[in-house]
Amino acid sequence: MLVSKKISEYSKRSSWIRKMFEEGARLKSIHGTENVYDFSLGNPDLDPPKVAIDTMAEIAGDPGTSHGYMPNAGYTDVRERIAKFVSGVQGVDLNAEDIIMSCGAGGGLNVVLKTITDTGDEIMAIAPYFVEYRFYAENHGGILVCSESNNEFLPDAENIERNISARTKAIILNSPNNPTGRVYSEDTLLEIKDVLSNYQHILVISDEPYRKLVYDDLEVPSILRTFPNSIVVTSASKELSLAGERIGYIAVGPAVQDKKELIEGLILSTRILGFVNAPALMQRVLAQCIDTSVDIDVYKRRRDLFVSILNEMGLEYAPPEGAFYLFVKSPVPDDIEFTKALQKERILAVPGSGFGKKGYVRFAYCTDEETIAGAKEGIRKAVFSFNRKS
Ligand code: PLP
Repeated sequence: MLVSKKISEYSKRSSWIRKMFEEGARLKSIHGTENVYDFSLGNPDLDPPKVAIDTMAEIAGDPGTSHGYMPNAGYTDVRERIAKFVSGVQGVDLNAEDIIMSCGAGGGLNVVLKTITDTGDEIMAIAPYFVEYRFYAENHGGILVCSESNNEFLPDAENIERNISARTKAIILNSPNNPTGRVYSEDTLLEIKDVLSNYQHILVISDEPYRKLVYDDLEVPSILRTFPNSIVVTSASKELSLAGERIGYIAVGPAVQDKKELIEGLILSTRILGFVNAPALMQRVLAQCIDTSVDIDVYKRRRDLFVSILNEMGLEYAPPEGAFYLFVKSPVPDDIEFTKALQKERILAVPGSGFGKKGYVRFAYCTDEETIAGAKEGIRKAVFSFNRKS
C-alpha cells in the first residue's frame, strides 16, 4: 500500500465536516442548491471588504511588484506594519522581528507546533475544539490532550490543571471559539494564568482568527499581555473573508521563553515545512487592510435571527458572542441522530462529537438570512420528530 498507515487511518475516519460537505453536494444535486440549508462549513460567504479587493488589484497590476522569494519570515515592511497593529490590539510592544507571516492560521499553528514539539510531547486543547488540532499536533509527533470546558463552554482551570503532565508543552486557547462562539473573559484567562504560574514552561498558543468577529461591543482580552509565555496565531481567512488566499501571521509575545531561538525556529519551520514564505501578494494586501474587517453587523443579524428560531423551538445553545457558529444542544442525547433528523429536512449541521463534545450540533451561519429563515420549518420538524417519539 503506497499510502501510509497513518494517512489511510485518517482518511477512513474522515472528519464530520467533510462528511457533511459531501452529503450537502449530494442533496444539492437532487433537490437544487436553494432547497438545501447548508450550515456545515465555516467558509465565509461575505465578500472581502472593498479595500482588500482594490488593494489586490492595485498591487497585482503594478509592474514594479516583486513576485520572487523573500526572507522566510516575510517582508520586513509588512511585518513592521503588523507589529504596530498587534502592539495596539494586544497592549504590548512588538516589532517586526516578532512577526512571522504564515499561510493562514492553519499554516501558522503547524509552524509553531513543529518548532516546539518533541515526539511524545502533549499539546492541550479545550474541548469542544477545532477538529484539525489533533492532526496538527500529531503531524509533529505530539499528542493532543483534551481538557473539558465547564458548562458555560469556557475553559475550566481545574480540569486544565488535572490534565497537565510532565510532557505538557503547550495549551491552545481559541477565543472567539469554534465551535461554540464563546469569547473567553478576562476572569477566565486569569484563572488559567493562575494555574500556569506553577508551570511557566507551558506555552500558551492563542489561535484567534475570529478576534474581530465579536458582537455587542464585547472586548476580546489580550493574550500576550496576560500570559508571559505566549504566542498568537491568526489569519485573514474569516475577518477579511480571504480564506482561500492563505494569509496570516504569528506574533511572538515579548516575554516568551527562549525568544531568540523560538523565532529562529519558527522561521526555519516555515521554510522546511515547504511553505517557504507566506504568499507575497497577500502579505502586502494584509498590511494595507490590517485595520479592516468584514461588516460584523451582517453576521450579527444572522445570529439574532438564528437565535430567535432556536428560542422558539425551545433549544438550548452556548451564548454566541463571536465567530459565526451556534453550538446547540441536541434534543436527544445522540447528536448524530439529531443531525440525521435535520438531514431528512435537507438541513446540514455538524455533530458535536466531531469537536469532542457529544450531545450538541454546530450550525455555521456563513449563509444568508433567507437560508436561515428557510430552515425554520425543517428544524421544527426535526425537533418535533423526537417529541412525538418520546
Ligand atoms: N483555527 C480555527 C479555530 C478555525 O476555525 C480555523 C478555520 O476554520 C482555523 C484555525 C484555520 O484557519 P485558516 O484558514 O486561517 O488556516
